[in-house]
Amino acid sequence: MNTFAGATFVTSAAEQHQCPADDVPEVAFAGRSNAGKSSALNTLCGHSGLARVSRTPGRTQLLNFFEVQIPAALAPGARKGRLVDLPGYGFAQVARDQRRDWGPVVGGFLQHRPNLRGIVIVMDIRHALADQDRQMLDWARHCGRPCHLLLTKADKLGRNAARQELMKVQRELPALHDGASVQLFSVPARTGVDEAVAHIAGWLAAPVG
Ligand code: GDP
Repeated sequence: MNTFAGATFVTSAAEQHQCPADDVPEVAFAGRSNAGKSSALNTLCGHSGLARVSRTPGRTQLLNFFEVQIPAALAPGARKGRLVDLPGYGFAQVARDQRRDWGPVVGGFLQHRPNLRGIVIVMDIRHALADQDRQMLDWARHCGRPCHLLLTKADKLGRNAARQELMKVQRELPALHDGASVQLFSVPARTGVDEAVAHIAGWLAAPVG
């Protein structure tokens, strides 16, 4: 099974000018708080403590950058990329002024970041395509960013129910964002890990232009 081995924390940014200034390709991770974004990041990197960095006081509202190696089997030449953990959206306990900050910082990043190759949106399969997910998809479409949806916690549903949910999202997705794809994911069952790594590696390794 491929993972993004050797993931290391690079930096946190509250504003555009604090983001790394180079041309390393990036993939951003978005999702409602508690959807399973940290768990998915940890699993994709084969590293149980990775996304804990994003949770340390002072970092939860920032963009957190992790450098990863693109698996050699998926991109000969062993190039590197970055995964960017965006602040979880839509959590009620966040102070209103912090919530207001989310839009410009993340919105600006999604719109203007030249390094950004795609956005992974992590959704709890039991609450897929909530209002905020739809807003994120709409924003991504507006910015011309491809999206890949992880329907995570698939183990919480039976096999058939999970497939039904996947098909439901697949049917609706083209009308929301024509550059979006979706898959099942589960941390304990390790469902969809290879598929997600391959998809993200494909974005990170794609030639620019
Ligand atoms: P985040 O706020 O989006 O980063 O969410 P977390 O990764 O912290 O996950 C929220 C809760 O969901 C935690 O209790 C996780 O253990 C649990 N969780 C995350 N992914 C899965 C999964 O695939 N299956 C199950 N059963 N639980 C999960």
